[in-house]
Amino acid sequence: YLTRLRIAEPKLRSFLHIADEESILRQAEEVDRKIERNEEVGLLGGVLVGVKDNICTSDMPSTAGSKILDGYRPPFDATAVKKVKELGGIIVGKTNLDEFGMGSTTEGSAFQVTANPWDESCVPGGSSGGSAAAVSARQCVVSLGSDTGGSVRQPASFCGVVGLKPTYGRVSRYGLVAYASSLDAIGCFGTSVADAGILLQAISGHDRFDSTSSMREVPEFISKFTASNILESRPLQGLRVGIIRETLEDGVDANVVSSICEAASHLEDLGCSVTEVSLPSFSLGLPAYYVLASSESSSNLSRYDGVRYGNQVTADELTNLYGESRARGFGPEVKRRILMGTYALSAGYYDAYYKRAQQVRTVVRKSFKAALDENDILISPAAPSAAYKIGEKKNDPLAMYAGDIMTVNVNLAGLPALVLPCGFSEAGPANLPVGLQMIGAAFDEEKLLRIGHVFE
Ligand code: GLN
Repeated sequence: YLTRLRIAEPKLRSFLHIADEESILRQAEEVDRKIERNEEVGLLGGVLVGVKDNICTSDMPSTAGSKILDGYRPPFDATAVKKVKELGGIIVGKTNLDEFGMGSTTEGSAFQVTANPWDESCVPGGSSGGSAAAVSARQCVVSLGSDTGGSVRQPASFCGVVGLKPTYGRVSRYGLVAYASSLDAIGCFGTSVADAGILLQAISGHDRFDSTSSMREVPEFISKFTASNILESRPLQGLRVGIIRETLEDGVDANVVSSICEAASHLEDLGCSVTEVSLPSFSLGLPAYYVLASSESSSNLSRYDGVRYGNQVTADELTNLYGESRARGFGPEVKRRILMGTYALSAGYYDAYYKRAQQVRTVVRKSFKAALDENDILISPAAPSAAYKIGEKKNDPLAMYAGDIMTVNVNLAGLPALVLPCGFSEAGPANLPVGLQMIGAAFDEEKLLRIGHVFE
């Protein structure tokens, strides 16, 4: 892994910081010694884990892809990171992302652009593009990302790996740099459903440092992977799958639609009954998401004032110090979100935008709940297209936002979703991966993982 990390890194630029190789080897040798002595090494014993750079680590920088946090070293580990370490995982480095998680290509990082390992002229997706590319290129075994509106699932789809966004509250957000707190979730990347599930097992559970983390007991996700019925001819007999009609309509690439349809017939062969489900509110999710996510971010990002965190400019007056630090520290997309969010929350427009978006969120949540009462899981593409060229949508924010149509509803409803490779696009010389999204009922990650495991 370390050799591959080193060789691939100059081309891919997945990492913003790589741990000292000697320290990684020392930790690995310690695991070896424990194994020799027959001692417990933990669920992640010796496993190399990449961590998105908006997740705090006490022994490495944590910039969230922003100049305003350049050089920042948190005095603590995020709960998810702490758990990974306690269970024997070895953190190899911090992965690249769109600044504060705002973007869908990783081009929005203040430091570097990450390339897609399948075609280096294409984006890896985002905002967790570094974490997805690193796992796809086998620079690490698994990685942590964050998903506010699709940032684990869409890059998983673009890079041909498995991405898992847990139910809101399943994993503590303590130490995750806040983007939109009511939507943010830490998620997992792996090259198999089992790997992503094992990482989820490691990081799940209540945390007294995050009051929104759930008190629910964490089930044994992993025992499901050894399901004895996997060799039966119809191991998913009796499960009901709803395919969301609105996700296969105009604006979705033909090769994506055909891959999803093939996946649906594969699920039928495995024993599922697949029926079409209509969610008329589906397309309302995108505008509601962008109003809510921007509003929450404008509030969350007010803490970066050049005094408490990161880089400070010298100024004659305090207000100029705030203004100049933020003007120089934030990139253009982050400024756009802060402006949109501040506008939507302002007294005169609150009812028309923020309140309205909250009402739409309730409608979306209810429609998903109703569809999941009738079905075990819902399926859709993870994105309307496969990966596209670096630069293609960089200067067209609305086109970039439109690409999030498949994923944002899941965050509005707080549901878990799994993305796994299901085909290839045949457009152009590069055959790029296409991802299938499976959406489950709240706190039913177990079922998603079981179905995903049998499917792959
Ligand atoms: N692309 C979406 C956005 O820019 C989602 C990002 C995310 O999930 N962090 O808001």
